[in-house]
Amino acid sequence: MSRHFIFTYLLPVTLGGFIALAGYLYYQTTVLQADLAAMTEQRDIAEEEVRVLNETIDNIQGELAILSEDYEELRDDYREERNKNEDFEDRIDNLAGTLGNLNKLAKTDKELLQKYSKVYFLNENYAPERIDKIDDEWILEGKDEQYFHREALPFLEDLLEDAERDDIELKVVSGYRSFDEQADLKGQFTQVYGSGANAFSADQGYSEHQLGTTVDLTTEEVGGAYESFANTEAYEWLLDNAHKHGFVLSYPEGNDYYIFEPWHWRFVGEDLARDLHRDDMGFYDMDQREIDEYLISIFD
Ligand SMILES: [Zn+2]
Repeated sequence: MSRHFIFTYLLPVTLGGFIALAGYLYYQTTVLQADLAAMTEQRDIAEEEVRVLNETIDNIQGELAILSEDYEELRDDYREERNKNEDFEDRIDNLAGTLGNLNKLAKTDKELLQKYSKVYFLNENYAPERIDKIDDEWILEGKDEQYFHREALPFLEDLLEDAERDDIELKVVSGYRSFDEQADLKGQFTQVYGSGANAFSADQGYSEHQLGTTVDLTTEEVGGAYESFANTEAYEWLLDNAHKHGFVLSYPEGNDYYIFEPWHWRFVGEDLARDLHRDDMGFYDMDQREIDEYLISIFD
């Protein structure tokens, strides 16, 4: 190969080739770098997006936690409120019950369980709220029609029927008596019994008959001969059974308050009559305050 050829053709061509290759390589490197820069940028963008997403998730979680707390508070508030409402309802119920009892008590005549004495007796103007006629079948022959407190009458009828079932024939001599009737009666007794009449009829038994809840009982055989009623089977039966129907003997034998009246029975309600019988105690032996507690259930 001649030098001429080398310098004239081969070298320039080779150099040109190298230059072209270097240019190409340089170009490719530039493209790759640009690609790399673009990819790096995209990665950065993606990373930023991930960061933002993570932040968003954190925020949402934070909000959820707050909401959850709020919810629990609300739930607690609601429970508390509901409990308060329940308490309130209980109190309303109790109050309604109390009012019901008070109302019942207010409507129940306090005189019905009052103890009377020679110094404390019923006002002459007093009259029971309602009285009903006692069925004629129970009235002692020859006596006028008799009346009794309307709400106590069913108890009296039960007593009389109960006695009848046990072959005890009880008769009513006297039920409700007004003040005027009682005043007349006192006159009669005064004539019959003289000066002792005041102790006999006037003061105590007087008030009890005016209540309408007291009855004088006898038998056909004894009739109006009251004292001998104490010797009858009927009287014994009453001592054993009258309390079951709410009746008590106001003035038992040997009592400290009044003469013995075996015929004179007062309705005081089944609860009180039962308790007095159980304790073998007279109505007039019990404290008035204690007696008053039975008033609400007198007609139960
Ligand atoms: Zn009487």
